[in-house]
Amino acid sequence: MHNTTHNITNVGVIGSGQMGGGIAQVAATAGFNTTVFDTSPDAIARCQATHAKLLARAVEKERMTTDQAEATKARLTYVTDLDQLAGSDIAIEAVVEDAAVKAKVFRGLDDMLKGDQVLATNTSSISITEIASATKRPERVIGMHFFYPVPVMKLVEVINGLATDKAITARVISLAEAMGKTAVPANDRAGFVSNRVLMPMINEAFYAWMEGVAQPEHIDAIMKLGCNFPMGPLRLADFIGLDTCAHIMDVLAEGLCNERYRPCPLLRQLVVAGRLGNKTAHGVFDYSAS
Ligand code: NAD
Repeated sequence: MHNTTHNITNVGVIGSGQMGGGIAQVAATAGFNTTVFDTSPDAIARCQATHAKLLARAVEKERMTTDQAEATKARLTYVTDLDQLAGSDIAIEAVVEDAAVKAKVFRGLDDMLKGDQVLATNTSSISITEIASATKRPERVIGMHFFYPVPVMKLVEVINGLATDKAITARVISLAEAMGKTAVPANDRAGFVSNRVLMPMINEAFYAWMEGVAQPEHIDAIMKLGCNFPMGPLRLADFIGLDTCAHIMDVLAEGLCNERYRPCPLLRQLVVAGRLGNKTAHGVFDYSAS
C-alpha cells in the first residue's frame, strides 16, 4: 500500500449486493483484509461466487497472476453475523437505499465498534448528517460514494456530514486512493455534487422532449456531439432507471426545499407506465428487439 495515512488494515463492508460486492473486491485487491457482511445468506453466497469468477477471469486475461488472485481470495471473508466486523478499522455500508434500514445498521455499528473506527456510507441520496444522527459519534460518520461498476469507475465522492471531523475526511481520502481511486471531497447537501448536477440535466432533457423541442434520439445526438458526452442524457436515464431518476429528483426537491427540482411530468408518466429503462427493456427507448 503506497499511502498509510489512513491507518487502516481491516475493511468491513455491509451489504454484499452490486455495490458492496464491488467495494469488497477493490479493497481486497488493493491489499486490505476485507470482511463482507450481509443479512441474506443467498446474497453472500452470490457475492463469493461472483468474486471467484471475476478473479479467475482476471488470471485468464493476464491482469493478475494466480498467486495474486489466491492472495486476494485469502483476504476476503464472507459473514452473516455482524459481530464478525468487530475487528474492522472502517465499516463501509452499502445496504439497500432505505433511511430506516441504514439507521438500524448504523445503530448496530455504533453499539458494536467502541474505538476510533470510521463509519462510512455508500448512499447515493440519503443525507449523511441524518445517517450520522443515528449514532452517538456523528464526527466519525462520512459518505464514501462509489460509482457502478466499482472496479471500473475511478471516482469516490467523499461527503462530509455536518459534524464530520476533518481528520476522518483525510483518512477516507487516503484510503480511497490506496484502493486505486480518485477521491474528491464534497459537502452534505441533497444529491451531493454528482446527482445535483447530473439529474436536473437529465430532467431537462425530458422537458425538451415533452415540449417537442426535439425527438429523444435528436436530443441525445445533440448532447453527445455538441457536449462530447459519451452517452446522451435520455439513454443514460434508461441505463440508470427512470424510477431512480424520478426518485432522486424528488429527493432534490425535498432536500433543497425547491419545487423546481420535481421530476418532469413525462418522466413520472413513463414510470407509472412501467417503462423503467434497461431493466424493463423499455424506457425512453425500446430495447425489446436487442
Ligand atoms: P443491492 O440491492 O444490489 O444490494 C443491497 C444488499 O444489501 C443486498 O444484498 C441485501 O441483502 C443487503 N441488505 C439489506 N439489508 C441489510 C442489512 N440490514 N444488513 C446487511 N445487508 C443488508 O443494492 P446496491 O445497488 O448494491 O446499492 C447499495 C447502496 O449503494 C445503496 O445505498 C445505493 O443507493 C448505493 N449506490 C448504488 C449505486 C448503483 O449504481 N447501484 C451507485 C452508487 C451508490
